[in-house]
Amino acid sequence: MTGPSAPTVVVIGAGVLGVCVAAEAAAAGFEVTLIEREAEPCRGASAASFAWVNAHDKHPHAYAALNELGRTAHAGNRWFHPVSAQFDAQSYPDDGYVDTEAFANAQLGSLHSAGGTARFGVTVSCLKTTTDRACSVQVGLDTGEDLRVDRVIIAAGVDSPVLLAGITEGPGVLGDATGPAGFVLRASTKAKLGTIHASDLLNIRPDGGNRIALQSLALERSLAAKRLPLTREHVWPELRARAVEHNLELNDAGFLEIRAANRPQALDGLPVTGWVAPSVYILLSHSGVTLAPVLAELVVDELRGIRSHELDPFRPDRPYSHLKPPRRTDG
Ligand SMILES: Cc1cc2nc3c(=O)[nH]c(=O)nc-3n(C[C@H](O)[C@H](O)[C@H](O)COP(=O)(O)OP(=O)(O)OC[C@H]3O[C@@H](n4cnc5c(N)ncnc54)[C@H](O)[C@@H]3O)c2cc1C
Repeated sequence: MTGPSAPTVVVIGAGVLGVCVAAEAAAAGFEVTLIEREAEPCRGASAASFAWVNAHDKHPHAYAALNELGRTAHAGNRWFHPVSAQFDAQSYPDDGYVDTEAFANAQLGSLHSAGGTARFGVTVSCLKTTTDRACSVQVGLDTGEDLRVDRVIIAAGVDSPVLLAGITEGPGVLGDATGPAGFVLRASTKAKLGTIHASDLLNIRPDGGNRIALQSLALERSLAAKRLPLTREHVWPELRARAVEHNLELNDAGFLEIRAANRPQALDGLPVTGWVAPSVYILLSHSGVTLAPVLAELVVDELRGIRSHELDPFRPDRPYSHLKPPRRTDG
């Protein structure tokens, strides 16, 4: 697919999923425009991600298999740091973490090289499907423009349901697309950390240079129960105390930043991938850092009309339970 007749695609959202699917679609010959309301990529959930690439403790089997493919797809790329992980005294030698900024920049580079466009600081305000022969979807922007394109991929994380409002009443499994709030905290330390250490009380990993990244699922839960925000005030003292158990001394001068966000999640905790209207595709997932490369490849096959059977368990119209699987780790 090349030349003036290449089908036009708008991807909404430049988190890890949006940048990756936009790059993949452009490489496949689509004429792609990526639209992001923030000034930079990865400002939503992707900014608060612990970005641990792993495939254990994932259920059902099809979801574990997808994560396994994601981990393989990251391996060998410059944004992936194969530092291995220790989780509850078990070793996971193939695990690592993604530098999400480097990942996003690489995807945007590929998008541009393939002739695609990324527009930042622009919000999609409404979507409308049409029966017009010349286009299938109208994409209304806050700039007043009205783009007319062949296909739209919604990769807008927790904001996806708002965009779907004008298109479909479903899909039910999406709910409000909003999972538990979480955080990543960055600090500098003189101590060297070579690997990811994970437990319910503390996840800790190297983050390049003398930086480390910290997360605590137990702390997230206890602050949520007390309705306290995930701010430095409530998080830092507790994390410092827990880090001592890993022989890491963190002092106040070492605090760098804390970023918090809700996890984009369906009601059953699994990805949602598929057509919600003839020309509108939804791509939403927790563990999106691990899954981005494999989901992007499978979704772009579907854009080309090739069904990706690996995605069959994650269709928007699947039956579902309101029970999200327990989160022992993250990613
Ligand atoms: C605390 C935490 C820890 C995590 N840890 C891990 C982990 O260890 N490993 C792992 O694999 N995953 C992890 N995840 C999950 C992973 O980070 C997410 O699955 C992933 O970031 C989702 O990416 P996304 O692109 O779908 O969403 P986002 O990053 O939220 O991107 C969506 C984008 O859409 C934009 N947008 C929304 N509406 C509009 C609109 N109308 N117009 C234009 N733009 C719009 C937003 O501004 C945003 O930039 C974690 C998540 C959190 C929150």
